[in-house]
Amino acid sequence: MIIKPRVRGFVCITAHPIGCDAHVKEWISHIKSKGPINNGPKKVLVIGSSTGYGLASRIAAAFGSNAATLGVCFERPSEEGRPATPGWYNTIAFTNAARAAGLYAQNINGDAFSNEIKRQTLDLIKKDLGKIDLVIYSLASPRRTHPTTAVTSRSVLKPIGTSYTNKTVDTDKGVVSTVAIEPASEQEIADTIAVMGGEDWEMWMKALSDEGLLAPKAQSVAYSYIGPEVTWAVYKNGTIGMAKNDLERAAKAINSNLEKSVGGRAYISVNKALVTQASSAIPVVPLYIAILYKVMKAKGVHEGCIEQMQRLFADHLYATQGPRVDESGRIRIDELEMQAEIQKEVAAIWPHVTTENLGELTDIAGYRTEFLKLFGFGLAGIDPEKDVEPHVAMPS
Ligand code: NAD
Repeated sequence: MIIKPRVRGFVCITAHPIGCDAHVKEWISHIKSKGPINNGPKKVLVIGSSTGYGLASRIAAAFGSNAATLGVCFERPSEEGRPATPGWYNTIAFTNAARAAGLYAQNINGDAFSNEIKRQTLDLIKKDLGKIDLVIYSLASPRRTHPTTAVTSRSVLKPIGTSYTNKTVDTDKGVVSTVAIEPASEQEIADTIAVMGGEDWEMWMKALSDEGLLAPKAQSVAYSYIGPEVTWAVYKNGTIGMAKNDLERAAKAINSNLEKSVGGRAYISVNKALVTQASSAIPVVPLYIAILYKVMKAKGVHEGCIEQMQRLFADHLYATQGPRVDESGRIRIDELEMQAEIQKEVAAIWPHVTTENLGELTDIAGYRTEFLKLFGFGLAGIDPEKDVEPHVAMPS
């Protein structure tokens, strides 16, 4: 099959298996180039392991610390005439590379919110790993079916209280326009918290703890975002921000349980805004990212998911002195993005961006390149005209 990118709005509906493999290998090379993470994790569970920050965390653990990794993700295999999702191909690429390096790598593909997938994961840990010393919680999902009530909630990306109008960009067409978003209802706020808040993370940690599967000093980390004022109405103070507040509440509860049970810790890491499948769906944020990339690249401080996760592991979670945290106890690897000088430049560019000058004032080209890479397109040495086999099985 000849597989080319087919972009529909903020998603690409095709993915290239060889390109995804090359992308995963790029990330592995970055981790190897940084050398070993001293006293790093040894047995790691990654929930949301197939793309974005979760995949980068898994690669940092495996190739920075020789960790055995168990990944949980929700990806679609190929079908007749249709390639699989990039997370499917990434997981195969990671598993093959990890096993070739002599590392344990197993995967469970299914709904992490469900009791069945939790059960399967716990059983596999018991059988193969014994106890886990790091749990990464990196889910980004549009919906969640609650395991006890069976109610399905859908998350929304909306402001709260009043409607919000700002600039946004159609990253595919390169058109800058004004978007007006109506405020969320109380139900939508509750639903977004149900999907992206901390309850499911707490359920995972309780299940692992109840079955004695957490090693002494086990750590857990989940990811959040704060960002600058220009995005607050739709992020920090919007529905997703309320869910992230709930994730912070859960971090404190999990931390206190971990301290008591195994002398461990739970953290929120506030990460940088980056192009991922999840972030490309948020209104306004892609335009902010395109400007941010321009400014950060010019200053030589731009990072992607893998650079961020390497720093999270080496400079915080496994640093001799332990993580450095802010006044709310959060790890901040968004500190370069949030530097006053960088934010001042982003804010100065923001009001001037139009469709006509998008290519000049922002790094929309870099945004698109990175977006396509998520789906395995545009990587060096990959010929998009070449016939490839889209049906690849997950290694057992
Ligand atoms: P992503 O879309 O790249 O990855 C999401 C992962 O969750 C995938 O592995 C997917 O398979 C998995 N997943 C989704 N639903 C699932 C389900 N029901 N069961 C099992 N697995 C499921 O997202 P990302 O951008 O890497 O986001 C991960 C976390 O990082 C989120 O909490 C997000 O808010 C946070 N974060 C993202 C950014 C950013 O700019 N992208 C910045 C800071 C924090």
